Amino acid sequence: MTARSGIGYDSHRFAEGRRLMLGGVEIESERGLAGHSDADALTHAIIDALLGAAGLGDVGQHFPDTDEQWRDADSLALLAQVCSFLEEHGWHVVHVDATVICEAPKLGPYRDDIRTTLAESIGLHPLEVNIKFTTNEGMGAIGRGEGIAAMAVATVER
Ligand code: MG
Repeated sequence: MTARSGIGYDSHRFAEGRRLMLGGVEIESERGLAGHSDADALTHAIIDALLGAAGLGDVGQHFPDTDEQWRDADSLALLAQVCSFLEEHGWHVVHVDATVICEAPKLGPYRDDIRTTLAESIGLHPLEVNIKFTTNEGMGAIGRGEGIAAMAVATVER
């Protein structure tokens, strides 16, 4: 049995007139995030962690933002696609841990929904997908509420 871990990071700017999607869940918010896809920074960080663990590149390589095919793409569907891709390469996902850095809106009330949604897409039990929320204490671009960032670690086995 070989186990490997990978890390992922993503951030997106806030934009008016967009839905706010995090971990495949729509968050009630006056603004969403700008991006070619649905701009789900949490799911993108997890995708990068998974691809990193398997040594299979990054999200931009697999779903380039220059490709019209991925405009407004449902990142949760991309996550499921990446998990199948890993399985094809003999890798089985065993654990994901992630942190979302966001000043507002408050994400705590969405924790269980995000966990369940992501776990279902990855094919894990919700207890194997841990999601944490923090603010940047008002520091820097994220602290000024210019956008949302997310970090993730994923473990895979073969
Ligand atoms: Mg992204």
